[in-house]
Amino acid sequence: MDQFTLYEQILGLSPPWFVSNVELDKDLGEVEVQVGLDRDAILTCPRCGRNCPGYDSRERRWRHLDTCQFRTQVVAQVPRVQCPEHGCLTISVPWAEQKSRYTLLFEAFVISWLRVASISAVSKQLRLSWTAIDNIMERAVQRGLANSPERDIVRLAVDETSFRKGHDYVTIVSNSQGHVLAVEDGRSSDSLGRFYATLDEQRKRSITSISMDMSPAYQKATFEHIENAHRKIAFDHFHVAQMLTRALDMTRKADMAKADRSMRKGIHQSRYTWLRHRDSLDLQQVQQMRQLSEDLKDTGLVWYLKEKARDIWQGYRVKGARVAWQEWIQMARVTKVRALTSAADQIEIKLFGILNAMRFKASNGLAEAINGQVRALKVRARGFRSKERFKRAILFHYGGLPMAPDPHK
Ligand SMILES: [Zn+2]
Repeated sequence: MDQFTLYEQILGLSPPWFVSNVELDKDLGEVEVQVGLDRDAILTCPRCGRNCPGYDSRERRWRHLDTCQFRTQVVAQVPRVQCPEHGCLTISVPWAEQKSRYTLLFEAFVISWLRVASISAVSKQLRLSWTAIDNIMERAVQRGLANSPERDIVRLAVDETSFRKGHDYVTIVSNSQGHVLAVEDGRSSDSLGRFYATLDEQRKRSITSISMDMSPAYQKATFEHIENAHRKIAFDHFHVAQMLTRALDMTRKADMAKADRSMRKGIHQSRYTWLRHRDSLDLQQVQQMRQLSEDLKDTGLVWYLKEKARDIWQGYRVKGARVAWQEWIQMARVTKVRALTSAADQIEIKLFGILNAMRFKASNGLAEAINGQVRALKVRARGFRSKERFKRAILFHYGGLPMAPDPHK
């Protein structure tokens, strides 16, 4: 096999394309592969595919996978055609996408590296600028989205994450496979609304559950866009537990302020004990709580009801759950502990979503896991220079998208 044929095979070329020359420039450390086109090749418009007369040609270059240690460039005179409908356009070449400065194989190679290594590592290893990598990622995500128009949206989860610490949020929508479907600016009702607006009616109807936190924004969007939203919105136990943990903490602090000075240290030291599940307490902790309950009556009550809420969640599926929660709400109100009665009010308003979550066994767990991965991504990238890059990176890494170009299509 001569080297021309070798490169034709490497590049996957077939007639009318052929390798016309291969040159090694040792000083530059570069291999240049010249690709030619048969003189009588039929030229087609890249938009509509109709045969068109040639107009002129332009030299174009693409970076390809290195040949040993040598950076390799593909060079070709690419004809432009004059399409009666689309005007003067450069024809498509089989080794690269339109407007890309890299061959398909090179892009596929970069994508596979980016999946496992940081942008800075890839930049250094492959001698590519950040902007070049960013362009490859952008095309990869767009290709992935175009290749998978019908992704699973039966069971959704919505969550927010911050782009920069403390402000500037994005909303992440994911499915039950743990794939990110969309990343939208902000965490308002409009943020989620924009995602819903991309779905047609049939797709919207196919959604059976949407797991979310208890803040009103995502609920509002869901009620506005999704039919029978009150049967689909689900509040995970995690969010209920979080609310009760906050109530417990507030009550303990209020109790501590009222308690005798000599007691305060002990109360403060017990702060984590109260948050634990009763089955995970050791004897010493039980005794500590018993002693403290004498002085921390309210804290004891809130703790008891927090445990009771867990029992309801674990003990019922559908039948009896509503009544059990209603009893719980009454009990919480009787205590007259401020933090607890306001939690009870919230639970009463949100009961439909709590019951839905119990019915579906829906969980925001996957969304929370994605959120954790996104935080790790931010740390690894040492921050993103723009929100668009951040959003793209989330889709690139967690979108489950088929992003690699297919050199043999
Ligand atoms: Zn055309």
